[in-house]
Amino acid sequence: MVRAHGVVKSYGTNHVLKGVDLDVAPGEVVCLIGPSGSGKSTFLRCINHLERVDAGQIWVDGDIVGYVQRGDALHEQSDKAMCQTRATIGMVFQHFNLFPNLRVIDNITMAPQLVLRRPKADTVRLGEELLERVGLAEKRNAYPRQLSGGQQQRVAIARALCMQPKVMLFDEPTSALDPELVGDVLAVMRDLAQSGMTMIVVTHEMGFARDVADRVVFFDGGTIVESGSAEQVITEPRHARTQAFLRAVR
Ligand code: ATP
Ligand code: MG
Repeated sequence: MVRAHGVVKSYGTNHVLKGVDLDVAPGEVVCLIGPSGSGKSTFLRCINHLERVDAGQIWVDGDIVGYVQRGDALHEQSDKAMCQTRATIGMVFQHFNLFPNLRVIDNITMAPQLVLRRPKADTVRLGEELLERVGLAEKRNAYPRQLSGGQQQRVAIARALCMQPKVMLFDEPTSALDPELVGDVLAVMRDLAQSGMTMIVVTHEMGFARDVADRVVFFDGGTIVESGSAEQVITEPRHARTQAFLRAVR
């Protein structure tokens, strides 16, 4: 479903991604772990083309992100086509970035109406279903400021899902939350994983990674150092750098 091949990205002289290869199968849940500054967020941002890669390619569901192929040549996608591609890739950030002036239901249904041109009634129906699913049906008409951080993050997840994405990217979705609010958000993500969604999750929640991830990938210095089952990578890491990182986060 997601395939990254030789992804390279620099900011000036800062070589952030140094050739990342990753294949994520449909329905697979991959957790990315690694030290601060190792390029995890940059990699996620490349997947949905918030950043342009310097070299390498990324495919989502068979399409090369950011480009269209005509004959043998690759052409950069138009902004409109890019919007459509991006719509298939849901992203949830550490900071929920809800629209403060819109009610919960409007936060969730705006993008499918504007970007996908779905009829309002359909988006509202789906939005209400999703709110139910994340346990917030009663907050339909609330404003973001009236919600806790954990509730806002669950709305952000529902908002991403309302676009009916093929893959969901999560960038440390619980790390800005008070500890007692983390569990509800992880429960929603666990439910999503069980429903068969393809997910790439940057997280420091080792318990979640151990329980939910089909695969754990340890990122350091812009490359994948180690990749395998949670059991293998978290419990019995082979590389010294993975071992040192896990000692530090425990
Ligand atoms: P963290 O765990 O702290 O979130 P990370 O693994 O997500 O770290 P990135 O945010 O991908 O790391 O950053 C990797 C490197 O790229 C860092 O050195 C960072 O300063 C740099 N970087 C990230 N975004 C930009 C940008 N827009 N412009 C310039 N440099 C950037
Ligand atoms: Mg990051």
